[in-house]
Amino acid sequence: MRSAVVVGAGVGGLAVAGALARTGWQVTLLERGDRLRGDSAALVIWPNGVRALYALGLGAGLDAIASPAPSRGVRRPNGQWLVQPDVAAGEDEDGPDSSVVVHREDLHDTLVAGLGERIDIRTGVGVRTVRLSGGDLPGVGDGRTTWEADLVVAADGVDSIVRRRLAPESTAVAAGCAAWRAVIPWYRAPKLPEGAATGGETLGHGHRFRYALLGERGSAGGSSRGGIYWAATVPGAYRPEPSAAQLALLRRWFADWHGPIGDILAATEPDDLIQHPVAELRPIPRTFAFPSGPGGFVLLGDAAHAMSHHLGQGACLALEDAATLRSLVHEAIPGRSLVSALEEYTATRRPRVARIVRQSRRVGAVYAANGNLVVRARNAALGLTPRLLGRAGAVARQWRPPS
Ligand SMILES: Cc1cc2nc3c(=O)[nH]c(=O)nc-3n(C[C@H](O)[C@H](O)[C@H](O)COP(=O)(O)OP(=O)(O)OC[C@H]3O[C@@H](n4cnc5c(N)ncnc54)[C@H](O)[C@@H]3O)c2cc1C
Repeated sequence: MRSAVVVGAGVGGLAVAGALARTGWQVTLLERGDRLRGDSAALVIWPNGVRALYALGLGAGLDAIASPAPSRGVRRPNGQWLVQPDVAAGEDEDGPDSSVVVHREDLHDTLVAGLGERIDIRTGVGVRTVRLSGGDLPGVGDGRTTWEADLVVAADGVDSIVRRRLAPESTAVAAGCAAWRAVIPWYRAPKLPEGAATGGETLGHGHRFRYALLGERGSAGGSSRGGIYWAATVPGAYRPEPSAAQLALLRRWFADWHGPIGDILAATEPDDLIQHPVAELRPIPRTFAFPSGPGGFVLLGDAAHAMSHHLGQGACLALEDAATLRSLVHEAIPGRSLVSALEEYTATRRPRVARIVRQSRRVGAVYAANGNLVVRARNAALGLTPRLLGRAGAVARQWRPPS
């Protein structure tokens, strides 16, 4: 039987581990955390991510946890529209927008349910060693045990130990901004004014706030963990203060912004807050596949192509990676056939993600505009070409799974 070791049980690792197991691979999943769990924020799953989940056989699971994505309109801090939602919504040339928003823990549960019964799951295992040598099976170890398999998938995130060993030329670099996310459960969420239910994005001087609704107040809605999800980005570095002090700063930074942003921040509790170090890989590795013996290693998700969150595509691309790898190795057997499939994985994935990394940087530069003159020029440009931001994301959204 073909064997695989997957390092990391984030969105990418869980998706690929389940996909390989369902197509007859014997899979071992190694996770350094003491259990498999998602964090308590949310994610927008864009149409490419939705298609990837369907291609992975997880469409029904997604439908059970999904809420409609927020409007794609963009506002100024005073609430005035920079890009009207109906203009932004007309960006996709390939049919209606099927983006959804999901609670990360719900998505995690869906992916864990998709692992099935046969996977060997080892939690509390932090991979520290990587064995790549000409004729041997690829292997990874934690200093006490070594796991080897025909295929080792490195899905261990932006600071991937496996990537550091295989592609040392790529380094995780701070993206120059700090980001926070939270979900306020419905029972203590503020009442939203008429029209606010569309959620959406607001841009200020380098600051950015967006929110979305998970399910509906008073019902489980699409999500079993409903509430108001919000994400804020500000220029600068990761903030080291305790959560209560970070929340006080966020309330001050966004104090004059249009409703219901102030109410949302007032209803947020320090324990709701998750701060993320925002980093991207520079450069992205030259290859995502490293042959070893009759198989080899592949990099997947943030381990291969971590990018800043400006397009909000990281998890969707990890799901695309998983769907692509599953399709390429479906019929491959260890030896030349598997090695070629892994090379094909790089050929298919790398040009696409490299393009999206570039788009994400461009959009990040638009969002980061700071200072009166620059912000005025940015807002004027968005007024004249309201589809500018949406087009940047269209390349990502239009992906189709391999047949
Ligand atoms: C503010 C913000 C908003 C975002 N919004 C969106 C969005 O709306 N939509 C979207 O698609 N993406 C979004 N993203 C991006 C998305 O969160 C990431 O790209 C995605 O979670 C990456 O998944 P992953 O599985 O590749 O890595 P990770 O989620 O980082 O998972 C890596 C796993 O590997 C484990 N691990 C690490 N090292 C080891 C080791 N040595 N041994 C064993 N296990 C190890 C970790 O514990 C973890 O479980 C956002 C990101 C940020 C910062």
